[in-house]
Amino acid sequence: MDIREQEARNNQNFSQEYTSDFIREIISRDVQEGKNDGRVVTRFPPEPNGYLHIGHAKSIVLNFGVAEDFGGRCHLRFDDTNPEKEEVEYIESIKEDVRWLGYDWGEHLYYASDYFDRLYEFAEELIIKGKAYVDNLSQEQIREYRGTLTEPGRESPFRNRTVEENLELFRKMRAGEFDEGECVLRAKIDMSSPNLNMRDPTIYRIKKVPHHRTGDKWCIYPMYDFTHCLSDSLEGITHSLCTLEFEDHRPLYDWFLDQLDVPCHPQQIEFARLELTHTVLSKRKLMELVRGGYVTGWNDPRMPTLSGMRRRGFTPEAIRDFCKRIGVAKSKSIVDIALLEYCLREDLNRRAPRSMVVLEPLKVVIENYPEDKEEEVESENNPEDPSMGTRKLPFSKVIYIEKDDFRENPPPKYYRLAPGREVRLKHAYYIKCTDVIKDEKGEVIELRCTYDPETRGGWSADGRKVKGTSHWVSARHAVDVEVRLYDHLFTRADPDDIEDGEDFKANINPKSLKILKGCKAEPALENARSGEIFQFLRQGYFCVDSEDSKEGAPVFNRTVSLKDTWAKIERSKKKAR
Ligand code: ATP
Ligand code: MG
Repeated sequence: MDIREQEARNNQNFSQEYTSDFIREIISRDVQEGKNDGRVVTRFPPEPNGYLHIGHAKSIVLNFGVAEDFGGRCHLRFDDTNPEKEEVEYIESIKEDVRWLGYDWGEHLYYASDYFDRLYEFAEELIIKGKAYVDNLSQEQIREYRGTLTEPGRESPFRNRTVEENLELFRKMRAGEFDEGECVLRAKIDMSSPNLNMRDPTIYRIKKVPHHRTGDKWCIYPMYDFTHCLSDSLEGITHSLCTLEFEDHRPLYDWFLDQLDVPCHPQQIEFARLELTHTVLSKRKLMELVRGGYVTGWNDPRMPTLSGMRRRGFTPEAIRDFCKRIGVAKSKSIVDIALLEYCLREDLNRRAPRSMVVLEPLKVVIENYPEDKEEEVESENNPEDPSMGTRKLPFSKVIYIEKDDFRENPPPKYYRLAPGREVRLKHAYYIKCTDVIKDEKGEVIELRCTYDPETRGGWSADGRKVKGTSHWVSARHAVDVEVRLYDHLFTRADPDDIEDGEDFKANINPKSLKILKGCKAEPALENARSGEIFQFLRQGYFCVDSEDSKEGAPVFNRTVSLKDTWAKIERSKKKAR
């Protein structure tokens, strides 16, 4: 299916109230039938080798959400079996992100490494049952012996070692008597299975690397497939929800649990991973962006990581709403990033106080306004929510308006300011442009206007109408702020749509960040606090940057513009129907 068809398909789900999904249906049936004594226990199992992204949010909302819906619980378990790639920094960030999204694992925080002793015992149990053997083939040989999708594999010459010999060798592996790569422990299943995962998969390998939690206690480490099902079972997980790439691993998941004497046999259910247009959601690729300096870090506001999105101004409510709207399904799909932005606008529209900020200032002198006069005009904080109250805005003789709100030669349908034309200053007065002042290069640097004192509040007593309304700030009272505007990090909807010899980085949008300095903000914004979110009238939603803002000098990230492409798609679809 091409990306357009997939988008179209996703769009159909829009506005359909989320109720249930195939996973909740399965679990609901299990509960009714009294399976697992009616208990529901799920887990979110991140590998601590990077920061969480919006794809992980889908899994978090699903796992914690299912537990909530069925009165069960959800564990947070770090899948920390690879000592080389994992760092404590990632563990802390993952905990912070899950909490920020609004979920609580209570006392159920686990690490796969907590189970290393138990897993070792399970491995010996497999050997004793004649279901695992130590193999001295090299990695390349193992690969070569494995066969292909069309050809069966071949059995290793070491496959038929005795139980005693295997136990002895495995214990020596553990004792550090062999070098890395000298041997591995493999499950003895079926070298001719049509499922490659069942062709005697490796379950332990030697790695003489200390682990951040177990130190140098171990020099052998269990593989993911062996660890995951057993960790699930040891924790009494009932439903192990994972993404579709693990579908082919399910027979192996079940095989280990069937062979071994385990506390319970959780059920693995797969769902489609989230994919978003204009976005990469793979930790490896995100790591590449960070390490290559394409972004400023994991929490760059352009990153689809939860820390980046938080810094940008996304709210947990908007992300949870998004996850519920996209739902979970078995079939692969790509979600339009416009839906994510739509959810964000819906939430911010309700909660963000309005504010006036001129991003690209043009000076306006109101000639008939007294030099020293100052007054205050009243402005609502959020027309969507009167309980948010009003505030006073200072007005004086010199103001700034947006450069783009004036044209010397206005094109048709341009209703903003132009020579001789009158517009409304939001909440203040009507002004009329009487003169245009230019620099030596012919660029407009200042306007001269007159105001009508009878239009205070922005309404004319004689019913005279104007078509344009501009936002503005009083020059004497304005504070200078820096504003950062963002665009998609990738120009193409599918960042992996590349020419020969290129990689996804060829699609990086060179214009994804635009920095505006010397923007003029209404005075109250001087004291805006880190993380606070405002709607700048006509410009979008902006969040005070948590890294680069200083006391009295806030830097604003544009979270999202006001333009709603998603609603537009919806309207045009309705029309077409
Ligand atoms: P990546 O491909 O980004 O490296 P991963 O699957 O290796 O992701 P893990 O830390 O192993 O990352 O993922 C933890 C959980 O989050 C897993 O259960 C995984 O299935 C789920 N997950 C990861 N990416 C997505 C996604 N895009 N959509 C839904 N769930 C995801
Ligand atoms: Mg993984």
